[in-house]
Amino acid sequence: APKRIGRNEHQIDRSHVSRNAIKVCEVLQQKGYQAYIVGGAVRDLIIGLEPKDFDVATNATPEQIQPLFRRARIIGRRFKLVHVVFGREIIETSTFRAPSTGEELTDDHGRILRDNVFGSHEQDAERRDFTINALYYDPVTEEVIDLHRGVQDLKQRVVRMIGEPSVRYREDPVRMLRAVRFAVKLKGKIEPGTEAPIAKLASLINNVPSARLFDEILKLLTCGDAMLCVRQLQAHGLHGGLLPLLDLILEDPEGRAFIELALERTDSRIRGGKTVSPSFLFAALLWPQVRLHWRRLHGAGEHMAPALISAADQVLNAQTESLAINRRHASDMREIWFMQPRFERRVPRAIHRLFEQPRFRAGVEFLQLRAACGEFDSVIAQWWMDLADATDSERAQMLEDLT
Ligand code: ATP
Ligand code: MG
Repeated sequence: APKRIGRNEHQIDRSHVSRNAIKVCEVLQQKGYQAYIVGGAVRDLIIGLEPKDFDVATNATPEQIQPLFRRARIIGRRFKLVHVVFGREIIETSTFRAPSTGEELTDDHGRILRDNVFGSHEQDAERRDFTINALYYDPVTEEVIDLHRGVQDLKQRVVRMIGEPSVRYREDPVRMLRAVRFAVKLKGKIEPGTEAPIAKLASLINNVPSARLFDEILKLLTCGDAMLCVRQLQAHGLHGGLLPLLDLILEDPEGRAFIELALERTDSRIRGGKTVSPSFLFAALLWPQVRLHWRRLHGAGEHMAPALISAADQVLNAQTESLAINRRHASDMREIWFMQPRFERRVPRAIHRLFEQPRFRAGVEFLQLRAACGEFDSVIAQWWMDLADATDSERAQMLEDLT
């Protein structure tokens, strides 16, 4: 029988639970369905963190869910689920799913390409990755339903795979990266049986579609302790050739200081509850490489601006092969980079043109990073920051003071 854990034991603070997620569960339960808050939100609530978003799992089908809400749309082709929309919040509501049966379509390494069978509550828990991610919270009874001793693992800060770890990694190699990320997040460790197969299977990361890899790397780098994540990935052999971006972070001594600083600043923004722009982060991570090519090309006689453009192209082309940096991010990154040499010329007309750029502020913040690493005059970098913060009249004065 599943273990039901009461409020005294799980100590979830109901004020951290989304009103809308509670509403979705209540409506479904009133119609006679099972409905629970599930996954990362329950994990975070139990350890006292505020969840980013809330997912609901139910035995109602998407067609049964949708008409119960004023604004709800069915999304997904292979596996349908419902987005219930409340203003800016979306409650992702999915029907219980069955785990793999070995009969799905898999690639040569066992990776699941399709899984689209509805299942029971028990099956839904079984197909999830770690015990800490397979907890269900019933907001009506305020009980946590725990079918895999997830609460105990959570209290002991252990990341434990549900089922046979090596099989589960073959089904989806991204789970190796997730194991590392959750261990860092819990400030705990990966259970030995869950950890052991990673060394042998690490290279399976190569089979993961690059867009998915990008999403996961972004989650790792914005978890609030990016450097520790990167070191843990390295310790588990999940770097080297697999994730070219991480190779750069770990192996380029010249760029290391710059990258460490960029990651530290990212961490402190995340910890302060601020957001981080992926373009800014990746622009920083790749800057040491861009800088290297830029200097080389300039040294070979190219002019500054065109040399920077070719350097950016070289670096972005090399990265997009394995890590899909989408076009929008790539163009934001270029804008940030291409502004850099323009900060060296402080004449009013050029300053005005630069100021009009949509990414001006990001460019100025990027300049601060460069200054902190001794690559740009810090007094002048601060002048630009002041300009970005200035009111219109202060700015006019600053420009006048220049002449
Ligand atoms: P966070 O959102 O903080 O990264 P999360 O646990 O919510 O953590 P999501 O990727 O949002 O992670 O996934 C929601 C839930 O779906 C997980 O808690 C887990 O139960 C399940 N899940 C996600 N990815 C996988 C996977 N690769 N294999 C099995 N189950 C998964
Ligand atoms: Mg989540």
